[in-house]
Amino acid sequence: MRRKSINSLSRHVPQRTCFAFCRVGDKRQLIRLVKASGGGVEVDRSGRAKGRGAYLCTEPDCWRTGLGKSGRLERALRTSITQEECQRLLQFSKDLVERPTGGDGK
Ligand SMILES: [Zn+2]
Repeated sequence: MRRKSINSLSRHVPQRTCFAFCRVGDKRQLIRLVKASGGGVEVDRSGRAKGRGAYLCTEPDCWRTGLGKSGRLERALRTSITQEECQRLLQFSKDLVERPTGGDGK
């Protein structure tokens, strides 16, 4: 008789993690990216948009990694993004660093 060891098998980590390389503690803020209905990727500021989502922290390096040629984001969201979109998202991450979220409403 085999017993499933819940403890070792299902590692449900309630904490969201940045899908780039870093390990995220709750110290870091995470930005949710969602697959847009029309294709492509959108930044989900509210964190409540429907659809497949992936999280990135506010570390620009992670955006570069996630959006880079490794295709992590595309794999995570099962979509493809254009070069243009990639640039837009990278710009967004730069803005985040200069002006953290939670100031300007939308
Ligand atoms: Zn990260």
